[in-house]
This record gives sequence, C-alpha cells and structure tokens, in this order.
Amino acid sequence: MSDDASERLRSPKASLKVSIPVRMDDGKLRVFEGYRVRYDDTRGPTKGGIRFHPGVSMDEVQSLAFWMTFKCAAVNLPFGGAKGGITLDPKTLSKFELERLSRGYIDAIANFIGPDVDIPAPDVYTNAMIMGWMMDQYSIIRRQRCPAVITGKPVSLGGSLGRNQATGTGAFYVLQAMMRKFSRSPEQTTVAIQGFGNAGSAIALHLFQAGYKVVAVSDSQGGIYAPQGLDIPSIQQFKAVNHNVKAVYCKDSVCSIVEHDTITNAELLSLDVDILIPAALENQITAANADQIQARYIFEVANGPVTADADPILEAKGIYLFPDILVNAGGVTVSYFEWVQNRSGLYWSEKEVNQRLKKQIVTEAEAIWQIAQRQAVSPRTAAYIHALERLGEALDARGTRA
Ligand code: GLU
Repeated sequence: MSDDASERLRSPKASLKVSIPVRMDDGKLRVFEGYRVRYDDTRGPTKGGIRFHPGVSMDEVQSLAFWMTFKCAAVNLPFGGAKGGITLDPKTLSKFELERLSRGYIDAIANFIGPDVDIPAPDVYTNAMIMGWMMDQYSIIRRQRCPAVITGKPVSLGGSLGRNQATGTGAFYVLQAMMRKFSRSPEQTTVAIQGFGNAGSAIALHLFQAGYKVVAVSDSQGGIYAPQGLDIPSIQQFKAVNHNVKAVYCKDSVCSIVEHDTITNAELLSLDVDILIPAALENQITAANADQIQARYIFEVANGPVTADADPILEAKGIYLFPDILVNAGGVTVSYFEWVQNRSGLYWSEKEVNQRLKKQIVTEAEAIWQIAQRQAVSPRTAAYIHALERLGEALDARGTRA
C-alpha cells in the first residue's frame, strides 16, 4: 500500500457527536450522548452497527469503525466501515423510553446516514425491534419508505431471513472450515463460549447441533460449566425468559438435566478446552490473563476481545487465533444481502441466504489461511494483509484530490 493510502487510513473520514433529549416515562427530560463515525468509504457506503452500552465513547466508536472498514474489505463486501453508539445502560429504560431514544438518535444523525452513504445495523444491546423504529423514523424524515438505510430490521419490515443468527452462523462456517485443517472431529472437541447474546447463543446452538461438546457458557452475570457438555437449547429457553444464564439454570429443577458448576467469566476464559470463543465485549484477554489461556484455538466472535499486547503471548503459547474481522463478518455479510434485497425488491429464502453466506465467508477464510501459510504469519496478520491489499488498491485507484 502506498504512503498516501496509509496516511488516509490514519484517521476517520467524519465523526459526529450528538445530544439526544428524551422525555422519560416519569415526565423528566434526560439528555443522552450519541456518536456515529464513518471511517472510510473508498470501497462503498460506510457500514456498521449501533451499540447501546454504558461504556460507549467516541474513542470506542472510532476503533470499532476502523475494524468495520477492515472487516468489510477482508470478506470483500462493497462497503466501507462505520459505527455508532449511545452511552447508556439500556436495561434501565422502559420499552417506550427506548423507542423515543432510538427515534431521537435518528433525528440527530439523519443527515449523516443514507442508503448510499452510511447504513447502520444492530450491535451490542440493539436488535431488530430497534432497527425497525430507526428505519421508520428515517422514512418519516425523508417522507418516503427507505428500508435500505438500515439492516438487521424485522423481517416484516424488509429484514433478511437469517440475519438475526448470521454472526453466529458465519462464525460456525469459518470454525468448521478451519477445524478441517487440523483434522478435528466435533465429538472430540470441547468449547467454552463467553457471552450468550445474539452471536454467542447462535454459535453455541450450531456447535451443539453439529456434535461439538459445549462445556461452558456465560453472560455478563457469570457462567456455567459441565465437562460432559451442556444442553444448549434448554439454556437458550431459560435465557429468553429470565435473561440470566447462571441464576436461572441453577435455580430451576432443570438443573438435573446436566449437572454443572457455576463459574465466573474469568474462570471461563482459562478453562482447559480445545476452543475458546469470546463472544461478548472487547478487551477480555489482555497481557494480564493471556498466560492463563489453555485453549488451543480462539475464535473471536466479539469485536476486539483480545488486546494487541495479548496477541504475542498467545502466539508464543502456540495458540491459533482466528480474528474478529473474519470470524464475526457473517453479520455484516448478511446485512449486505439485506441491503441488496431491499434495493432489488426481490427476497431470498433462508436457505439461499445461508448458502451465499457460506460461500462468501469460507472463500475469504481459505484465502486468509493461504496467506498465513505462505507468509508464515498469524491468521490475524493474514486477515489484515488480505484486507489491506483490497483497501490499498481502491485507495490508490482513486488517486488524489489533494
Ligand atoms: N455489528 C455487527 C458487526 O460488528 C454488524 C454490522 C452490520 O451488519 O453492519 O459486524
């Protein structure tokens, strides 16, 4: 990549910080802080989720937008990268407050986004319902229906079949393809999953159905561990009703289905398993705990769960780490399919969505694996080389206006 191209990628194209006034149910007015960052749009309109979390800041949103730029290039989507967020604990808001906040956010960023400009989607603690409100609000502002402005919508409002599980499904396809390289059969392979949200629970179910032994799962409250393997469908049922893997599963008589211990998130990360899947938030495996990791393979389903200073420690231990910009790219890939369907008006079956997802993500995973082998680099470095080749070529082809 030329010096000009790398200089361009040093900072985001545009960053927006907004204040969102919301009338709360008790009549009081509360002002929330929101962000949207468009990192680079050389390869297409910018794309990336919206996160509702107390830890959201401009710094975090910028890093996540940078990752989205590389993720879209790594799996060859015609998109640049973006990210958005609001600083709040969404669990403390009622449904109506959440709707007013979501609509208020779109009022504040409407001129920054658009079907050919920047296309948001769900991320941590946002979901299809919220995307539906946001698409509706944007359509009200533009005075015409604009389904392609946002992806991850409810299917009834133009969402794609398969989008809800797509991050977990894509990660499962990558995992299967990579495990074949090591001739590992599912039955011999134990897995621990940190995070039981949209992505974590979807990959857990895929692995369970394929015969892998998922021995531990957790959420923000803590986790459970059973060496003989957990019954993932019943944990999903409990989590759906009670929102807590640990307490729910233990309090209930269903405990007797599989005997298990409760564990902390820190304990889960250092379990003696074959595969570790961090599927929650960033910065979970750091220089402070990398040495305790016992897994042979790590698949980053969360964005940025392993810090840069932990990478060399894991590498020195001989751990294969498959990076977020490949492993969790199934979400944005099916977002791309949703955008295509919205624009063409032709809708695909779930089978067709999953076939296309598998083809796209496995092709890119194989290409990244080849680079790693040929250049004797880690899969993370290989994924960045792969993405940078595409990005650099596009940036250079664009020439200079300066
Ligand atoms: N939030 C997801 C991610 O980090 C999906 C983004 C999208 O679909 O645009 O990849």
